[in-house]
Amino acid sequence: METLQSYVNSQWRHGDGEWEDVLNPSTEEVLARTSTRGIDMDAVLHHARSVGGHTIRNMTFAERGEMLKAVAQLIHQNREELIHLAMINAGNTRSDAKFDIDGASGTLAYYSSLGKKIGNIRYLVDGEDEQLGRDARFFGRHILTPLRGAVIAVNAYNFPAWGFAEKAAAAWLAGMPVVVKPAVSTALVAAKLIRLVVEAKIVPDGALSFIAGPPGTLVDHIKTQDVLAFTGSFRTGSMLRNSASITEHNVRVNMEADSINAAVLDPQTDLDSETYTVFINDVFRDMTQKTGQKCTAIRRVFVPDSLVEVVVEDLVARLKTVVVGNPLADGVTMGPLVSQDQRDRVLRGVAVLQRHARTAFGNLTSRDRIGSPPGRGYFVDPILLVATTPIQTSEIHHLEVFGPVATVIPYSGNAEHVANDVAQSAGGLVVSVYSDDRRFIEEFVLNAAPYHGRIYIGNSKVADVSLGPGAVPPQLIHGGPGRAGGGEELGGVRGLHHFMQRTAIQGYRPLLEKCFSGE
Ligand code: NAP
Repeated sequence: METLQSYVNSQWRHGDGEWEDVLNPSTEEVLARTSTRGIDMDAVLHHARSVGGHTIRNMTFAERGEMLKAVAQLIHQNREELIHLAMINAGNTRSDAKFDIDGASGTLAYYSSLGKKIGNIRYLVDGEDEQLGRDARFFGRHILTPLRGAVIAVNAYNFPAWGFAEKAAAAWLAGMPVVVKPAVSTALVAAKLIRLVVEAKIVPDGALSFIAGPPGTLVDHIKTQDVLAFTGSFRTGSMLRNSASITEHNVRVNMEADSINAAVLDPQTDLDSETYTVFINDVFRDMTQKTGQKCTAIRRVFVPDSLVEVVVEDLVARLKTVVVGNPLADGVTMGPLVSQDQRDRVLRGVAVLQRHARTAFGNLTSRDRIGSPPGRGYFVDPILLVATTPIQTSEIHHLEVFGPVATVIPYSGNAEHVANDVAQSAGGLVVSVYSDDRRFIEEFVLNAAPYHGRIYIGNSKVADVSLGPGAVPPQLIHGGPGRAGGGEELGGVRGLHHFMQRTAIQGYRPLLEKCFSGE
């Protein structure tokens, strides 16, 4: 059995006890064990800040971009091995695994091209110069310089590769070192990826550290110039945001948490239209892709009263085609949940939702699946529910069931009304609206936007080219207000700003132009 190692202080290091197992969720076989006991987290952060930080902030954006390109290429070259690990350690089908691994290399490649575009400068000039007062000699300009601490990148279990890449790409390009803390349950994929990067010697000494297991006291040693970039549940994120080190040092926290995402179907939708097909495809994909373990997955499906019956019928027809089992077995289209704990949580969550909804599809008790030993594996059926209690009172808006579970919610009323219903979840990562009617779309978007980080418009005009609401393009921001964490990642150059300090410089205009042009 493999023992995972952390990469700290520019060395590989075992923990020395209190081992945690890393499993194959299809068979419950132990694949690896990991421990971080005995690792001095204070020293890890000190090394990252002093050694890695110094080197990386002295590189230009173009040089950092070249580094990202090499990491992206390395992941691509080792794609097959990483896909296999995601299939055995994360319960991913091949297609789920590609989503994670290719998402990682794609995000790094995008930020690499941004580095090339920004060029051979070390910090950014932000916005236009401003004349201050009546005399044209006295001017002001804003610059952005990399923070002098480390980025503590804490990732959720569901995207061990992409989750690392979305944080590291922006942090490295901004000029900060990164300390990666993956979730233990899928640490095998993350550990392999980090080992590849370290062994290829692409990233400067100290700019990449890796905590291969429980965090220990990591967060207790965070200081003012550090950034906590967190992805995971709202509960863990809030606990970390309120920890003493973070509040005492007023540390920047960028939090990507959970979200009860919604899809909304316009009442005027023609059932023979491509818009309707896109809607059904997107809901089906989001329920089953990665076994519903996507922060962006559609959980609530708002359907006009008159269309509920047909939508449920069409979704059930699609769900009947799902083959649940070990992703290594032929024909399997949906793998297990990642752990026993996750399975228990999903079953408990469905039981709560069932107090407000009837079950249109799915059997909670079935367990044995193809390709897995009898009684083994953390499998669940996809579950489709239909709300039976009034929209306003339901827990359906508040409980994230992180699995292949969605609830159809019948609605009546116009675009503004349904946007208000959607907003009951108190802040979301993404909402999707399916319509060909410009007025409905406009009304919906303007009312839903304050509650969401991203709005996806699905219709016949983009049916053949759109990626669905679940994919997160690095060009656009990812995050959302309230429950979704209040953070914002990616979004092109916007994503760099979280790792840089914006400073206003005032003085003699020619001096500003000469000394603070970014070069
Ligand atoms: P989680 O239980 O909240 O854990 C998230 C991460 O926090 C894990 O790496 C965990 O490590 C770590 N952690 C826990 N306590 C810590 C501490 N004291 N110090 C430092 N790190 C600590 O979430 P999860 O079960 O992995 O992921 C599922 C959740 O993430 C879902 O709610 C989903 O919606 C959300 N998510 C959000 C996004 C987004 O972009 N908004 C993306 C993906 C997932 P251990 O594994 O060692 O406990």
